[in-house]
Amino acid sequence: MKEVCCNLCGNCESLFFKRLGKSSIVRCNNCGLYYLNPQLEEKELDELYSEAYFSSEDSAVSGYDNYTSDKENIILTSHRKLKVIEKFLPHKGELLDIGCAAGFFLLAARQRNWKVKGVEYCDYVAEIGRESYNLEITTGTLETANYEDNQFDCVTMWDLIEHLPNPMGSLADVNRVLKPGGILAIMTPNVDSLIAKIWGRKWLLWNRTDHMFFFSPKTLNKMLEKNGFNVVLLKKIGLGGKYVSIDFIFSRLIKYSKSLFSFFRNFVNKIGIGKVTIFADWGDNFVVLARKANNK
Ligand SMILES: [Zn+2]
Repeated sequence: MKEVCCNLCGNCESLFFKRLGKSSIVRCNNCGLYYLNPQLEEKELDELYSEAYFSSEDSAVSGYDNYTSDKENIILTSHRKLKVIEKFLPHKGELLDIGCAAGFFLLAARQRNWKVKGVEYCDYVAEIGRESYNLEITTGTLETANYEDNQFDCVTMWDLIEHLPNPMGSLADVNRVLKPGGILAIMTPNVDSLIAKIWGRKWLLWNRTDHMFFFSPKTLNKMLEKNGFNVVLLKKIGLGGKYVSIDFIFSRLIKYSKSLFSFFRNFVNKIGIGKVTIFADWGDNFVVLARKANNK
């Protein structure tokens, strides 16, 4: 692991917030960005984002339960997001999803006549997208993918920026590959959300071992402005949720009270509604759409 300074403002003075495994979450004294310190090094990231990440034994802490079986719900959620993006880009065009996994968001975008490409760090899951869905997915990072300047009309980063080792550097590169006037869409957990405040340090999203940065709309806005973007839409509720089964909701709530929510989980499965899908939004994620400034 390596010691880091604030990725947003460069300041190295911070306040301890909470212990997390072998590391700590701290808050920058200058700009208020929360980040993990020390952080994982590249070799450790390789080990984390392997096949096991997408069929995790404890997805509340890291990774997904079974990513590929959640395909239909991810596609439904993706259409909801794309409808909003298309209000800002009615002519659509070329879209890049960074951290696209097997490309389920790209499948929804392709159905809506976007020209789609993806980049994904984990080769195992990227290969599923290439083989099973004939998607153009590059294994690696945006920095290693070598896209052209001003190539894309839209770049999306769902549940990604909190995992990146250098979000400032990555946003600068997103700016480079976006056309002037192009749109970047980001979804990430909101440390200023009501649910984060209610649970305090016990909030599930403070306790994931795969998050390195923890944003509020304010800190993300600052990072976007520094990289040549203007925020055009901020949604704290209504877009950051997802379609999930009722069983999934209780499987997550068990982290807060095992006896109470195990009882409800068994009950909903017994009466046969565990597999029913609903749109759930706790307001713990926020979505930002930002436009690349024309003068960049
Ligand atoms: Zn800072």
